[in-house]
Order: sequence, then C-alpha cells, then structure tokens
Amino acid sequence: MARIQTPHRVRGTQDIFGDDQRRFAQVLGTFDRVKALYGFQRVDIPIFEATEVFSRSIGETTDVVSKEMYTFPDRGGDLLTLRPEFTAGLARAFLTEGWQQHAPLKLATSGPVFRYERPQKGRYRQFHQIDAEVIGAAEPMADVELLVMADQLLRDLGIEGVTLQLNTLGDAATRDAWRAALVAHFEQHRADLSEDSLTRLEKNPLRILDSKDPRDRPAADSAPDIDAYLTEEARAFFDAVTAGLDAAGVAWTRNPRLVRGLDYYRHTAFEFVTDRLGAQGTVLAGGRYDGLIGSLGGPETPGVGWAAGVERLAMLLAEPARPAIDAVIVPMGAAAEACGIGLLAALRRAGLAVDMAYKGKMKQRLAKADAQGARAAIIIGDDEIAAGAAAVKSLADGTQRAVAFDALAEALR
Ligand code: ATP
Ligand code: MG
Repeated sequence: MARIQTPHRVRGTQDIFGDDQRRFAQVLGTFDRVKALYGFQRVDIPIFEATEVFSRSIGETTDVVSKEMYTFPDRGGDLLTLRPEFTAGLARAFLTEGWQQHAPLKLATSGPVFRYERPQKGRYRQFHQIDAEVIGAAEPMADVELLVMADQLLRDLGIEGVTLQLNTLGDAATRDAWRAALVAHFEQHRADLSEDSLTRLEKNPLRILDSKDPRDRPAADSAPDIDAYLTEEARAFFDAVTAGLDAAGVAWTRNPRLVRGLDYYRHTAFEFVTDRLGAQGTVLAGGRYDGLIGSLGGPETPGVGWAAGVERLAMLLAEPARPAIDAVIVPMGAAAEACGIGLLAALRRAGLAVDMAYKGKMKQRLAKADAQGARAAIIIGDDEIAAGAAAVKSLADGTQRAVAFDALAEALR
C-alpha cells in the first residue's frame, strides 16, 4: 500500500510554539508599549508590493534586491515581491495614501518579512521584524529619538551586551567625494580583492568596507575614512546626533567601517551589535534615508528609521515569564463536573483565567494545576455542592479554605 508522504515545513520557515512563542510575545509586547511612550503610531501595510517598490528604493545592486527577494508574477501578470523589509513599503504608502499632510509622521509596524537566504541560526527565509520610522523630519533630533527608543527597547527587554555602533555616510556631496576616494583606493588593491568585491567595486564600492571575506579585510581596513570628506553641514549633523545621544545617556561607539546594505542611506547609519549570536550579531539596524522617497518618484522627503529581527531579540532574552493562570477547577464526580462547567464559565466571564482538570486521580489533577502555574485549585465534590461552597486550595502553601460559589471571583482576585 502506498504511504502518503507528510508535507514538510518549507526550508527557512518556522512554526513558533511554546517557549519560542512566549519569547516572541515578550518582544512584540515590549515594542508595542515602548513605541507608544515615544508617540509612534502603528500602521499595517501589505505583505506584498509591486516589485519596483523594492528594486527602485533599496537598489538593484544590493544583496537584498539582486539575490534575496521572493518575486513572482501573479495570475494577472503583475510582478509582485514579498516584502524583504518595511521601509520601502512605508515610503510607498506615504506617497500613495497622501500621508504627506500628516508629516512628520512617527510610524511603527511589525510582521513577517521574506528573504531567500541560506538558513542558519538567527537567519530564516521568513522572519519577523519590528520597525520604527520618522518620515518627513530632516532634523538630527529625529535620529536621536529613534536611537533612544531602540536603546530603551533593549533595556526593557533586559537584553545586555549589545553595543550601538554609529557612523555617518554624509550628505550627497560627501558621499560622492568619499566614493571617488574609495574607488581610487580599491583600484590600487584590485589584485587582493575577492570576486564579489571586484563586482562591488563597479557597482557599489562602499559595500567592500563591510565585506566579511578575509581576503578583502586588508584593503578594506586601510581604506580612507569618510571624515576627511565630510562637508561642514554633514559634520554638524553627525555632531548633533552624537551630542543628543550623550544628553540622553545612550552609549555609542564610532565604527567608521559601518555602511548599510541598502543604497538609500544618508548621514546617520547604525547597528546594535552583540557577540552572542555568532555571525548573526546585528540585532537592530537602520539609518537616515533622505533619498528614498525621491527615488520612488515622490517629492524629496527626509526619513530615518530602524528595523530589528524579532527572532534575534527573542534569542537574547533571559528566560521569558511562564504563563500563569488564576485557578484550576477540580470536580470530583458527575454532579460536580456539571457544577464546575457553570463555575468555569462564570469565572472566565468575570475576567479570571481558569481551567478545569477533569481527568485522573485527585493527585494528578492537582499536579496538572500546579504545572499550569495556577495559584489555586477549586475543589468541588458532593459535599461542596450541598454546602454551596468550594474548597479553595492555595497551590503555593497548600492551605485550604471554604469559599461560597458566588464569592469565588472576588476571592481569587
Ligand atoms: P545581516 O547582515 O545579518 O544579513 P541585514 O543587514 O541584511 O542583516 P537588515 O536589512 O538591516 O539586516 O534587517 C534588520 C534586522 O533584521 C537585522 O539586524 C536582523 O536582526 C534581522 N534580519 C535580517 N535578515 C534576517 C534573516 N534572514 N533572518 C532573521 N533575521 C534577519
Ligand atoms: Mg542580510
């Protein structure tokens, strides 16, 4: 007889359950709370967009666009892409939905994003990001606010050992001059560069700076810093950002080799990095993208934002809080079970988290209640029904007392 093959989970995707689910919930819940403290409003955007939303804003030569996107024609022949990040879609929404009238806008969102990458610890093909953006603010204060918020998120999650690395990519004039200097430098070291970096030299020479290929490191490490090419304006902007961080008590270090993978960044670029996740050490990253909305055909509009990987943050959490319920009802006998169903419904309607343990011996049921993290067991048998009061046993200290059925909700609070 032919055996039916069970379907498999697609490579690089996850089924998030149990402890992992609790970690996820803690990251998302904390983000939700912190973003409200900073006055960011939630927005939800589509999971797929017209492919050009990403190719035009992220840049054709980036790894994300050239190698990692899930792109497909739909049945009507439109070319669509599953979002590999949020920023481009938010910029598209800003333009198509007329959100200009609300600018500057502080936006927060979260959800699944998709990248065709080689799966490994902390790297998936469907993963999740939390994302915060300020669109329509050109001032360094916006960069500072986003960074202080990211820092508070990590603090509130109790995540330690993460450092904020900061760099500036300057304004357009700075970037052009620096780029020319980098090209001249790398041309002289052509013979030492990896094949990938030879391609980058043609298309995106900044990317050679953060190459992970050891063959590229000597040339990358000896490359000129941006500092000599910063215009006065660009330097003043960076100074304002670092002064703001110092005033807010957020620690940072300068990393002159930090460039971001996406083409749209200007001025501030940053990553929160840890050494606890191996090669997947960047947990939160972002920067300023003043060129992005223009590249989508909209009016030149400044923006700055960041995204963090929920999986990577979740892995860094200390033991997440176990879910606990208020009580478990333990009915002994058929009449008690019927009475228990009524009490269960009444207590849940009163806003208490209650379950019923109706299988096995009393001892096993109490053990189950304990395993669920219940504070109390509500024991009902024929005597209790006759008296109209349950035996409420504290699972912390084992003490027991009688509580009238209609006083149970109050007693459990
Ligand atoms: P990496 O260098 O690790 O590939 P990235 O620069 O491509 O990261 P961003 O585009 O800045 O990442 O995305 C922001 C965050 O999303 C990252 O800092 C990381 O926490 C998370 N992230 C990126 N790619 C993945 C992935 N494939 N799986 C899980 N998390 C990811
Ligand atoms: Mg990547």
